[in-house]
Parts: sequence; C-alpha cells; structure tokens
Amino acid sequence: MTDRYAVFGNPLSHTKSPFIHAEFARQLGDDLSYEAIEAPRDGFEAAVRSFVAAGGKGFNVTVPFKVDAARLADEAHEAVVICGASNCVKVEDGRLVAENFDGVGLVRDIVDNLGVALADARVLFAGAGGATRGAIVPFFEAGVREIVIANRTVAKAEHIRDLLRARGPIRACGYDDIGTGFDIILNSTSASLSGAALPIPDTAFHGVRLAYELAYGKGKTPFLQMAEAGGAEHLADGVGMLVEQAAEAFAWWRGKRPNTAPVIEAMTIPLE
Ligand code: NDP
Repeated sequence: MTDRYAVFGNPLSHTKSPFIHAEFARQLGDDLSYEAIEAPRDGFEAAVRSFVAAGGKGFNVTVPFKVDAARLADEAHEAVVICGASNCVKVEDGRLVAENFDGVGLVRDIVDNLGVALADARVLFAGAGGATRGAIVPFFEAGVREIVIANRTVAKAEHIRDLLRARGPIRACGYDDIGTGFDIILNSTSASLSGAALPIPDTAFHGVRLAYELAYGKGKTPFLQMAEAGGAEHLADGVGMLVEQAAEAFAWWRGKRPNTAPVIEAMTIPLE
C-alpha cells in the first residue's frame, strides 16, 4: 500500500513541500503520497486525527500550527521542547512523535551546501522568533564561538538568551547595539515577507563571510541588498534550508537520505 504523508498549514497555496517530497520519492524509487492539507484554523487536531485514522505515517507542519503540533504530540524530541513548536511528526503505533528540523536544516545548508564553516564563527541572528530559537543549539553543536541575537522587541531576544545560555555564549540586544566583527549574519525575521528593511548598521557587514536570508524566493531582499552594500562576501536565501529540513524529515520517516542538490537546484531563483 502507498505510504501516506502530508503537510498541514493554513494557507498552503504556496507550499513547496509536496514537490520536494515527490522529488525525493522519485529519486529513491519509494511508493508514497504527500499531500497539502489546509486545515481550518480551529480544526488542526481534528484534521490530524482523521489523517492518522486513515493510515497517515507522518506529516510536516507549517504556519500557524507548529505550536499546536508540539502540544498535540505524545512524545517530543529536544528541539521541540526548546522551541515549543514542531515542524515534523512521525506516527508510531498511533502515537505522535514530534521533531523540529528547521535548525538542523539551516546548519546543513550553511556548512554542506554553501561551504561556510560554523566552527569558531561569530554569528548574528536578526530576529527572535521560532526560527532563531530552533537554530541556537544546532549552531553551538556545529562549533560557533558566540551568538548575538538582535530583535525589535529586545525582551524576546533576552528570553532566548536566558533559556539557552548554558549551551554557549549568547548576547541579546536591540538593533542599536549590534556591534561588529561577525562572520555570519542571518535575517531570521519575517520582515522580508513584507519587503521591510531592518535597521542593521552598515558597519556590521564588514568582513562578513555569509549573509543569509531565511525567507526564500524573494530575490535580493532589502536585507541582502544592505549586506551586499556593506561588503558581505556571500549572499544566500532560505531555499537550501527548506530542502534540507525536508530531507531530515524524509530520512527520519523512511530510513534513507535523499540527495538534496538537484532539488535545491530545481528550486533556486537566482539572487542577481
Ligand atoms: P516568527 O513569527 O516566530 O518571528 C518573527 C520575527 O520577525 C520576530 O523576531 C519579529 O520581531 C521579527 N519581525 C517581524 N517584522 C519585523 C520588522 N518589520 N522589523 C523588525 N523585525 C520584524 O517567525 P519565524 O521565526 O517562524 O520565521 C522567521 C523567518 O524565517 C520568516 O521569514 C520565515 O519565512 C523564515 N523561515 C524559513 C524557513 C526555511 O525553511 N527557509 C523555515 C522557517 C522559517 P518582534 O519579536 O519584535 O515582533
């Protein structure tokens, strides 16, 4: 019987996950289906229960249901506990086991695909939402020396610092106190989704090896334009992160790892 997977979200009209997982399945000769299920905003749990009752083996979760997925889980892995949110669930004997692969996917994209070392790097995250929260531990595990989190609402950055300071050196600040000397700067805010610029001073980009925009398919966003003007060596958007977190999910569900390179290539929209 065909194994059934899905992504839950609302809205889902722009989701790339069915394409990515279909490509992985084709590559590995796996018989599976992967559908987009746009659950009503107050109907996530009912939609999940019906999917599981129909034999669903696993699912991804996107906005606005990531926190609901964490709450619904019978078992949660560490990344989910840290983030309070899950983007991937495996069904094991009817139980829901929750993971969060966004942070691991981001690390894989930077280190393996873009070839930029995280070991000993000083890293600035602009933004203190779920994506930043999920990336801190994988970044420290990859050997970063220091993380600075700058956020419009400084208290949110301070909260992440207080939660995760045992994992490595973290400083929390507002945009007026960012400083200089970074190897990597990431835009982990949702500002680019509305075309808004961030008040990161030009000087912060001097000597930066990689400026990374977590949003994808938006071209050269105001953040990437600022990074280029400020002297950042490489620019990237989040397409590789998206495909890598999907590959982590596929490997966890299916026990075999797809090759991400051709899928990233097929989905990349040049920044120039
Ligand atoms: P959240 O909603 O959890 O956090 C949003 C963050 O953006 C907050 O820090 C918020 O600041 C900040 N922000 C929003 N608008 C502005 C603005 N105009 N100026 C300054 N700061 C702003 O979002 P996520 O952490 O889930 O996602 C962040 C980004 O990462 C999004 O672009 C998302 O698309 C992308 N993403 C990409 C993935 C991929 O696979 N490529 C996976 C997951 C996320 P404040 O706290 O002050 O409100």
